[in-house]
Amino acid sequence: MLKSFALTALLLLASVAHAAQNLEIYWIDAEGGAATLIVAPSGESLLVDTANRTPDDRDAKRIFATAQKAGLKKIDILLTTHFHGDHYGALEALSKLIPISRFMDHGPSVELNRPNVAAAYKAYEELTAGKRTILKAGDKIPLKGVDIQVVMSAGQAITKPLKGAGQVNASCAEFKEHAPEQDPDNDQSVGLVLQFGKFRFLDMGDLTWNYEQKLVCPANLIGHIDLYQTTHHGLDRSNSPQFVRAIHPTVAVMNNGPRKGGPVSVFELLRSIPGLQDIWQGHLALAIPKEVNSDEKLIANLSPTAECKGELLQASVDSKGQFTLKNHRTGYTKTYSSK
Ligand SMILES: [Zn+2]
Ligand SMILES: [Zn+2]
Repeated sequence: MLKSFALTALLLLASVAHAAQNLEIYWIDAEGGAATLIVAPSGESLLVDTANRTPDDRDAKRIFATAQKAGLKKIDILLTTHFHGDHYGALEALSKLIPISRFMDHGPSVELNRPNVAAAYKAYEELTAGKRTILKAGDKIPLKGVDIQVVMSAGQAITKPLKGAGQVNASCAEFKEHAPEQDPDNDQSVGLVLQFGKFRFLDMGDLTWNYEQKLVCPANLIGHIDLYQTTHHGLDRSNSPQFVRAIHPTVAVMNNGPRKGGPVSVFELLRSIPGLQDIWQGHLALAIPKEVNSDEKLIANLSPTAECKGELLQASVDSKGQFTLKNHRTGYTKTYSSK
């Protein structure tokens, strides 16, 4: 009896130790906002964006619940990709639920001539005073156990390719520039490439079409990506063919909402990428035909916002580059290999 108890305890310890060696990425459903929680094998955490402010603090509560599920007592680094309400709206409420040690961003909002933006940005400055780092392209985000390279910040891209990248991108000749962005803080988004062993993950916030181009034309400065958080919730104001084909991801995760996210053209573009295996979605997209969406087993939430439970998507990445996506609504998992 005692012996089997000891054995069970040992096996349990072994499985905890195994899990602790993985990198975990959680996409918190924010109904079309952004909040991606990254927990390194070291246990250190990076939260990228804090989603929306709502009267019931829905998104702050969902982020906090995810942090608890991940066993966190604090957030080590909060990166705000840019100063739009769907990326830092819930920060104040979240900061009352869990300590946040450090804050990183691209520097001042470029929309301070809008009174509501100026007020929200001032509140951010006050909340982060003395704990804030402004990132430049080429900086590293210091999360122990993983390599996180800032490839874009405040409209500036890295000038030298990441290791193994730098290939000339022949499709740049067909690039068609878009009209300037209506909400220009999107252009300022911090973009990062996270590397853990062979595995490479990309999160560019809401970086727009003309600016993402700086990273892939005339040469691809990023290289390939295994897991791609579709930029700008999958909108076609971002995700140019030149960009998406250059990074040619194996798996895409779209942090869309029921009525915000990728149009049909972005789904079609992603599905045209050689080697792309699946598109996982935070939400069933209700504004496009059902059959354009991925199979329901790859979609975390099916209901409109009013009835939505806010189920998670999770990626668990081992040190050999195998990564497993999980739909917390159903428990469905699928494992992929890094390139
Ligand atoms: Zn956004
Ligand atoms: Zn935005």
